Amino acid sequence: MPVPEAVAAATQTAGDAIVQEHCRSCGGELEVFLSLGDMPLPDALLRPEQLTLPEPRYPLDVAFCPSCSLVQILQDVPPERLFVDNYLYFSSFSTGLVRHSAEHARRLVAERGLGPDSLVVEIASNDGYLLRNFVEAGVPVLGIDPAPQQAAAANAVGVPTLTEFFDAELARRLRAEGKRADVIVANNVMAHTPTLNSFVEGLSILLADDGIATIENTYVKDLVDHYEFDTIYHEHFCYFSCSAVDALARRHGLYLNGIEHFPSLQGGTLRWRLGTRETPDRSVAEYLEAERASGLTKVGYYREFASGVHRIKSELSELLRSLRSEGKTIAAYGAAAKGSTLVNFVGIGPETVDYVVDRNVHKQGLLMPGTHLPIRDPSVLLETMPEFLLLLAWNYKDEIAEQQREYLGRGGRFIVPVPRPEIL
Ligand SMILES: [Zn+2]
Repeated sequence: MPVPEAVAAATQTAGDAIVQEHCRSCGGELEVFLSLGDMPLPDALLRPEQLTLPEPRYPLDVAFCPSCSLVQILQDVPPERLFVDNYLYFSSFSTGLVRHSAEHARRLVAERGLGPDSLVVEIASNDGYLLRNFVEAGVPVLGIDPAPQQAAAANAVGVPTLTEFFDAELARRLRAEGKRADVIVANNVMAHTPTLNSFVEGLSILLADDGIATIENTYVKDLVDHYEFDTIYHEHFCYFSCSAVDALARRHGLYLNGIEHFPSLQGGTLRWRLGTRETPDRSVAEYLEAERASGLTKVGYYREFASGVHRIKSELSELLRSLRSEGKTIAAYGAAAKGSTLVNFVGIGPETVDYVVDRNVHKQGLLMPGTHLPIRDPSVLLETMPEFLLLLAWNYKDEIAEQQREYLGRGGRFIVPVPRPEIL
């Protein structure tokens, strides 16, 4: 079967972005259901002296493929612009993720009977946070991650790591060197790859005959049902359902054999287990049937979501406007990519929100892209006591409440933007 990457040869451009004209997975016709407008790059925080320079913006249109159910954005921003130099995320800093990964590794070792003759490959292995567990169990591993600092950190803790992007070509090279993986783990990476077919083809090339691939990504159903539209940005090319993963896997001779749901991980994550043979457990038919029954395989589901997104936009701007007109002060919490989508889509600038706080010291002193809210240390909250705090990082609401007990104790109030704007 032809691989549609070539079929979908995208031709239009928006600035230096490539605009997809066909589905990234099957090459089918797309239906656009949501346009978020011209957006700055979500992680491109500005230094104050950069305010006078032109800031690149790209349209952000979201589409559904009626043929294979894949939700995707149309615009491909060039990777050298997209993954800017402040890529400073080290997985080992996230205790929840470290625990989740260690459990997963322990289970794989036991269930697959992994030992000194096995090979576990992880794509986007970051600083070795997951593969370390296999190394400790005496299982040979190979990490693959294009980020040099993270790969260096992994190598330093004894997790051999290649500093490269994973695709079919790399998989062919590794196989030619005699490497076949018993397990491939790919967590939170499939959405970030613009060359989706080459990625999955690579999995099928590198897997051993009875090998399995486990893939984790946020679930498009959670995104839609909870109106998490702010998790849509240019770094995320695709938003997966089980139906879309099933179609994608089959095209490359792989089969969806198991599905697990982690509702509290990153706003709702699924783990898909793919194999070279079709041996599905009960979860597969259950999920596929539930997706058909709930409408997830039809564009109407996503059009309704889009109306809800526009409703949130008007309700939130109205809420903030009326608070400001009563003379209230408002700050925001969380200068991450999703915060950038939210403030730029809703149009929240310094006339409404005084500043954003973020615990990442590398972000403090910089400005949010697009609406240019200044980013400050969270300690400023107690010094200036804004009456309201808009939680851009709403997914960490409980953690922020814990951290900001004193702010709340002195009468500060939280505003959550989704699933509907609300003062807590
Ligand atoms: Zn498609």
